Amino acid sequence: MTRGFYIGRFQPYHQGHHRVVQDIAEEVDELVVGIGSADQSHSVRNPFTGGERIMMITKALADLDLVTYAVPLEDINRNAVWVSHVRSMSPNFDVAYSNNPLVVRLFEEAGIEVRGSPMFDREVLRGTEIRERMIASEDWSELVPDAVENVVAEVDGVERIRRVSDTDVEASPSD
Ligand code: NAP
Repeated sequence: MTRGFYIGRFQPYHQGHHRVVQDIAEEVDELVVGIGSADQSHSVRNPFTGGERIMMITKALADLDLVTYAVPLEDINRNAVWVSHVRSMSPNFDVAYSNNPLVVRLFEEAGIEVRGSPMFDREVLRGTEIRERMIASEDWSELVPDAVENVVAEVDGVERIRRVSDTDVEASPSD
């Protein structure tokens, strides 16, 4: 039995992340989806709460033939102990999936196997692109699973990101 761990901010969870999860599902029996920066919300870069991202991921993954766990992970100020923090909050896992150089380095230094998680159609399947389209009233829904579109509607997420884009002093939606 192999259990994987896939970390991201998922602001919001989109078709690119979903394709990565589908690829990982070919390699593992169970998957922990770590929701990074779970303490961040209501900003242009991080509009959705940890709880809202749990809903997006749980509902989007419901049809997959894979046992999954969505685990919210607050950021901490000390990279040197971040892997211990992750381990304290997550079911045990055998392999981590990430392309983030810092994340890869921290897991490798902790002796955890890391595999790349290449994203598909990166020209448009980017959190930044989706957040910019929401603010600009352009069509973004095709870039996310239907379940995510429904969660954004339930929490009035587009209105929220538009509203905070007026006041957020760090208003760039970029990564
Ligand atoms: P991130 O900082 O959220 O994302 C950086 C960029 O990587 C974004 O453009 C993101 O695109 C992209 N990305 C995400 N998944 C990818 C993939 N599979 N392939 C290619 N690009 C991808 O970083 P992250 O790696 O997604 O998430 C890491 C999380 O761990 C963050 O929440 C970070 O704060 C946390 N962390 C915390 C500490 C600490 O607290 N000390 C230390 C290390 C990491 P999208 O916007 O399209 O997703």
